[in-house]
Amino acid sequence: MPLNTYQINITGTVQGVGFRPFVYQMATKMNLVGTVLNGAGGVEITVNASELDLKNFITALQNQIPPLAKIETLDWKQIEQLFFQNFRIIETDNDGYITVRIPPDVSICQECEEELFDPSNRRYLYPFITCTNCGVRYSIIYNLPYDRPNTSMKFFQMCKACEQEYANPLDRRYHAQPIGCWDCGPTLKLMDNVGRGVPTPTIINKVVELLLEGNIIAVKGVGGYHLVCDATNEKAIARLRERKHRPTKPFAVMVKDIEMAGEFAEFNETEARLLASRERPIVLVKSKSSHKGLPLQMVAPNMSRIGLFLPYTPLHLLLLDKLNRPLVATSANITDEPICTDKESIEKLSAVYGYLLEHNREIVNGCDDSVLMVVKSQIITLRRARGYAPVSIKLPLALQKRVLAVGANQKSTVAIGFNNQVILSPHIGDLDGIESVEYYEKNIDTLRCMYDFEPDVIIHDMHPGYESTKYAKDKYKGLPLQEIQHHYAHIIGVMAEKQLKRKVFGVAFDGTGYGDDGNLWGGEFMLCDYSGYTRVAHIEYFKLLGGAKAIKEPKRVALSLLFELYAEKALVLDNPTIKAFSQAELKTQYIMWKKGLNTPMSSSMGRLFDAVASLTDVCHKISFEGESGMLLEELYDDSIKGYYDFTYKDGIINVLPIIQNILNENDKQVSVSKFFNTLLEMIAIVYRDYDDLPLVLSGGVFQNRVLLSLLLDRFPNAFIPNLFPPNDGGIALGQVASLMSNTMQEQ
Ligand code: ZN
Ligand code: ZN
Ligand code: FE
Repeated sequence: MPLNTYQINITGTVQGVGFRPFVYQMATKMNLVGTVLNGAGGVEITVNASELDLKNFITALQNQIPPLAKIETLDWKQIEQLFFQNFRIIETDNDGYITVRIPPDVSICQECEEELFDPSNRRYLYPFITCTNCGVRYSIIYNLPYDRPNTSMKFFQMCKACEQEYANPLDRRYHAQPIGCWDCGPTLKLMDNVGRGVPTPTIINKVVELLLEGNIIAVKGVGGYHLVCDATNEKAIARLRERKHRPTKPFAVMVKDIEMAGEFAEFNETEARLLASRERPIVLVKSKSSHKGLPLQMVAPNMSRIGLFLPYTPLHLLLLDKLNRPLVATSANITDEPICTDKESIEKLSAVYGYLLEHNREIVNGCDDSVLMVVKSQIITLRRARGYAPVSIKLPLALQKRVLAVGANQKSTVAIGFNNQVILSPHIGDLDGIESVEYYEKNIDTLRCMYDFEPDVIIHDMHPGYESTKYAKDKYKGLPLQEIQHHYAHIIGVMAEKQLKRKVFGVAFDGTGYGDDGNLWGGEFMLCDYSGYTRVAHIEYFKLLGGAKAIKEPKRVALSLLFELYAEKALVLDNPTIKAFSQAELKTQYIMWKKGLNTPMSSSMGRLFDAVASLTDVCHKISFEGESGMLLEELYDDSIKGYYDFTYKDGIINVLPIIQNILNENDKQVSVSKFFNTLLEMIAIVYRDYDDLPLVLSGGVFQNRVLLSLLLDRFPNAFIPNLFPPNDGGIALGQVASLMSNTMQEQ
């Protein structure tokens, strides 16, 4: 039978994931001859085959792909006849325009885990064991293509044994860029907090001993350092809280395995699957209050949820296996600074930790742990980073230009867009200090470098004070800049993820975002399509007493609303908010409010949550973002059915009646539950006029589990973001999406 020559092009996550050796194995198994190479646009296979063999080959490729690979497109065509002796892997082709994806860092695979604990294996107990199917990727890449010389593994000269595995197409470690062993790979080093080496024959045993003594240890991981301590040791956790100046923000806990997770928490099948997934995110699950071993009030004060995750590196496995206890493991960073990724940055925390567990493989790209939760069987991303990022999202329409989106200011991410593709960076964090802004710029440079990307246009938030806006204006002089309203970006990002092409009814419940009128929006109802939006309703503006200070102090928002209701008479009211101020403070605040001094106007739903938290005496000051909403969640009682009145007229929602009613309630659980129910009514009433349009929900307030789950019950078809966070981590995607071609499909 005559053989034809075919060329098969495959795109997706097909580099650095063992794809070429897999193709090689498939082809040789089927006695096909030809070549495979990493081209600029993905994997390119040239093969001589009969038509039937070609079909079988393609089916086999699609059905048996390596665990980390993901095929996005597979095209084939017949080309002019070529002749081959055998099947061969051709080394990486470095030319042309790179559109391939960078594989994320994933957890250790089952086979490596077995070898790790197998005394007969040459990598027995080696803390950096890895293979083509697992381990670090994104965090060690300087540049594409993903080959060892382009990673921080280039500093380690492979030994003979490793080299043989690396070069053998039939080996599990064929072209596994980060491989090494006891003889040639990265090594651990244990130090005290002034950098003196701690002599010990077995580092892991020593670290476990130190943890059991109650020490706090900084441990270098994949995308940064963790601060860890024994999670059953209340005093150690208290010490960590005190030294980190972190009084109440919950800590994540690393558990040895899913069984240990089950000791401390209840979880459903989806949550269990996420915990054990190779991405190994932190999953927020319901803690078992009956459990004695874990001092919950110290780990996650006043919360019924706990963030758990499983070990994801061989080093974690070795530690947890020996320790056999849960470990508090929190990202190491200094307030307002990004996650520590090198020795210099971690040493700034030497007053926090007692010992430092270092290794000598450089972290090139910092990457925090990812955080997810499951609400009504939907996976909600709270922080998208290690294991998932950078992520490629397909757009419903093509971009005419190459876009750089610089994101927002808090929970920041950035994105680049070209053709119908967006690459969204991992979570970068809040842009509050110089270090954070530098880290942010580095993330942009990394994306641009890896994708060989030169933007035609830059898009930024309308907020003139955002560091991202300043960056866009400073760094891209000469390039066209476009700005986009914050909440429109929130909604349009979801439209892009869900491939929605028609007009939608968007609800953006948010902290704050800069509005078209210069006010701080955040309780917005808008009709959106890709060409623009109309704001059809919003919460009536109220004054934020003290501006930015009001964001940290819910009592200021509540007080402002009390002034709206009762003016000066509010000063003599008897309620928790008034009690949270001194008489002198109240008088000053009243003057500020009356004269409108440092009192920006806001329609923010996030702030309304704050007001309710203060009025119900739940919290008057917060120590981390989202705290008031999380505390309110805890008080929700689904047996309380009522809701509070509010008025809705001419697109303005007046919430003052809600506040008034809360003042008359004497049970805070009733107040809080009715408040949640009220928000449902609010959305229902405004949506009623537009309910032929799809409902899209986004903005940081939708990270509230109770609100989200009530809404998904009432509006099961509502669209919410799943691939990226509802908070400002999704802004960059929306920014890119707003520049898609305006050729909208008619409804
Ligand atoms: Zn492996
Ligand atoms: Zn070796
Ligand atoms: Fe926002």
